[in-house]
Amino acid sequence: MSTRSSSVDVVVIGFGAAGIAAAITAHDEGAQVVVLEKAPPETAGGNTRAAGQVWYSPHDEELAKEYLRGLAYDMPIPDDVVDAWASEQVRNNDWMTARAAEAQGHIDVDPRDPFGQGVTFEAHTYQEAVKRQTGWDVPRDEFPEFNNEGGTEWVTFGGTQGHSRVWLRLKAALEQRDVEIRYSTAATAIVTDGDGRVTGVEVLGPDGAETITARRGVVNAAGGFENNPEMIRTYLGLPYVTPWGTPHNTGDGIRMGQALGADLQNMYQHMPMFGIALEGLETGEFVQPGGPAFIQVAQDGRRFISEATAYRHGKSTIGGRLEFYPHRAMWTVFDETVRTAGPLTAPHEAWAAGWEKQVVGYVWSDDNMVEIEKGWITKADTIRELAEKLGVDPDGLEAEIERWNAACAQGEDPYFGRPAEMMAPITEPPYYGYKWGNLLIATMGGLRKNGKAQVLHVSGQPIPGLYAAGEISSTFTWALGGGQSIADAIGFGRIAGREAAAG
Ligand SMILES: Cc1cc2nc3c(=O)[nH]c(=O)nc-3n(C[C@H](O)[C@H](O)[C@H](O)COP(=O)(O)OP(=O)(O)OC[C@H]3O[C@@H](n4cnc5c(N)ncnc54)[C@H](O)[C@@H]3O)c2cc1C
Repeated sequence: MSTRSSSVDVVVIGFGAAGIAAAITAHDEGAQVVVLEKAPPETAGGNTRAAGQVWYSPHDEELAKEYLRGLAYDMPIPDDVVDAWASEQVRNNDWMTARAAEAQGHIDVDPRDPFGQGVTFEAHTYQEAVKRQTGWDVPRDEFPEFNNEGGTEWVTFGGTQGHSRVWLRLKAALEQRDVEIRYSTAATAIVTDGDGRVTGVEVLGPDGAETITARRGVVNAAGGFENNPEMIRTYLGLPYVTPWGTPHNTGDGIRMGQALGADLQNMYQHMPMFGIALEGLETGEFVQPGGPAFIQVAQDGRRFISEATAYRHGKSTIGGRLEFYPHRAMWTVFDETVRTAGPLTAPHEAWAAGWEKQVVGYVWSDDNMVEIEKGWITKADTIRELAEKLGVDPDGLEAEIERWNAACAQGEDPYFGRPAEMMAPITEPPYYGYKWGNLLIATMGGLRKNGKAQVLHVSGQPIPGLYAAGEISSTFTWALGGGQSIADAIGFGRIAGREAAAG
């Protein structure tokens, strides 16, 4: 049986922010475009759909470059990539506003979203955003050690996070164009001619296998490898993680690039988060104790860091420099006062981010009892029994709780400097705990790209006709702030779409 075939100017693999930005741009540059989405419509949209829906939009190109170079730390980003990134980032708000205007009246609004079809956007600092969401006071910038005078860090539609607002608007804007979106259709290979030029994509969809010829180019925006345990082990050096976003990102796009001899970049790079696996569900959830009577311990049952250490999108300052955190498996232990202080994860109406909350619709119980009964949170009558159930050293945990309670009585943490107002003894049984180890926001290493979003061969030369954008080829080599991932995806998505359409 012969494989079916069709042909367009540009094939875009992936239906997240990067893929949609590339498709819109290529279409508007006059190309005939098809978008491939591995997932069915109900679970389409990648991590972009699950995201907090915040984006970064600086107003000054030169200052934005300075900020990016600071964030890169001692993992410098090539100049052509920095320049291309900055020239696009300053356009983000105008581009998003235009897309939202096109989408208005056509958006499949999340029925729980009070913002409806609205198109306004709000720009605010990281400080304002966190204050609004949690009531906490934090520095104005997420990374005050680097100069962020180039602009706002967080922009949203409607001033709050979630409800897939960005993704639903980008999707509706794309749907207003003559672009075919093929759901449940996975790219399985990228095809080249005898000279190594990319000529199309092999796909597997509801009607079987097909080869789609790409007359001008292919944009690979198939996301990261958050659901590929072998790649996680090989590249992140982690045995156990659970994704917070889509279950559909399995590193396919990276594998397809590798098959053509593409070079890889920054494979270590990822954003870990505090959270747990939810047995029986495909993805995990962000959790955090709502009261102060808790500690974090390692497998030996001992604390190893202040629980108040500022989390900065997968990094924290440890030993004087930004390091991955939380990186390894660790355990949180708390008592009944924390269990009754409120749900361990923010309710949907307060913070509609994550796959389970936004796409699947899991609603966490107010008193955490449902999740305790499910076994997601472990319960025990004594600290020793809790340690045994969690697989933590019982002698170590008993000793640590004793030391912690004594520190609380003194009103001072002499070991790790946790602030006194965040301290309370763990004395009210029953006791609870969970292993977080860790929750994965996104992987960010992947295909090496240049400032034109061209994918580079191991020889250093571009692979003709192949472009990459988004998580599959993230710009960020070390630290990055909230909103910068979507911003990078739409920025390089536009570049990739433009370059691919030019042929
Ligand atoms: C819970 C959560 C909150 C976040 N909050 C924010 C935030 O507020 N701001 C921010 O900037 N970033 C945030 N991020 C990160 C951000 O969502 C991602 O970095 C960004 O959306 C990536 O966009 P992308 O287009 O590269 O990938 P994705 O959006 O993941 O899209 C990848 C697409 O490729 C498809 N695909 C995969 N394999 C194939 C294949 N073989 N064939 C066809 N299609 C395929 C997938 O189904 C998907 O449609 C968050 C992430 C998570 C998980």
